[in-house]
Amino acid sequence: MVELETGGFRNLICSYIIDVEKPLLVESGPTNSIPKLLSGLEELHVKPQDVEYVAVTHVHLDHGGGAGTLLKHLPNAKVIVHPRGLPHLVDPERLWPSSQSVLGFISEVFGKPEPVAKDRIITATEGTFDLAEGAKLTVVETLGHASHNLSFHESFNGGIFPGDAAGTYIPEFNVVVPTTPPPFRLDIALASLDKLMSLNPTVLYFSHFGIADNAVQRLKDYKAQLQLWGDIAEEGVSRNQSLQQIRDRIVAEDKVMSQIADFVKNHRIYSKTMLENGVLGFMEYTKHKQTAVSP
Ligand SMILES: [Zn+2]
Repeated sequence: MVELETGGFRNLICSYIIDVEKPLLVESGPTNSIPKLLSGLEELHVKPQDVEYVAVTHVHLDHGGGAGTLLKHLPNAKVIVHPRGLPHLVDPERLWPSSQSVLGFISEVFGKPEPVAKDRIITATEGTFDLAEGAKLTVVETLGHASHNLSFHESFNGGIFPGDAAGTYIPEFNVVVPTTPPPFRLDIALASLDKLMSLNPTVLYFSHFGIADNAVQRLKDYKAQLQLWGDIAEEGVSRNQSLQQIRDRIVAEDKVMSQIADFVKNHRIYSKTMLENGVLGFMEYTKHKQTAVSP
């Protein structure tokens, strides 16, 4: 695991290096953190020219945003991404303004993505990549957080890299919090969690942030937490409540959120991504669902 310390924030974003015969990175991380990731490779004595794959769970700036910059330093590596992520890697010009509008100042902390040449991209929604004698990385399509979120299962320890499909792990408190910006899809996210649970993973390698044991229980708890947020948002939207009112009820009724409310409220990044964008994702999902079923 490489602590990327993006923008000076610790415990926020990390990448992973699988140091085998054909070294593989999971998550390029954001553009501004590429020097930090390269020093992680150096520390492990992994030569940049030996890196075979960079698997990105999705193309949001904090996960795959740095892929273009990273590939300039890894002459033989290819990026593994969901097919719906490919156009954004090849031409990040559309992703950047939409990221700026959703993330505000945080997009500047992450940095503007550089393009990736199309012939250096492998798209996948399933299948396995051979890494070393008998060791494999299996692609699992886990949509919901994004329309193109992949998870990766590794056969060494039976762990899963979920990207943002299993929430944000806050190691300071050993808890998980929903990561659900618009256009979040609750129904699809829940199905993705079932998919991950069915693989019976031993550990979760969170991109935010770090390695967590007790993986199946965490996925189960995350599912219940998403359902709770969904119920509160649905009721709030039907009563025309504001984002603030719905958020306050979530903080009061979700045991995890009540426990870490002060930490999240005072966190420059999480106060926006969890307490604003995350709640908004549920509200928009509810509205979308209502318009979808009305005649
Ligand atoms: Zn993320």
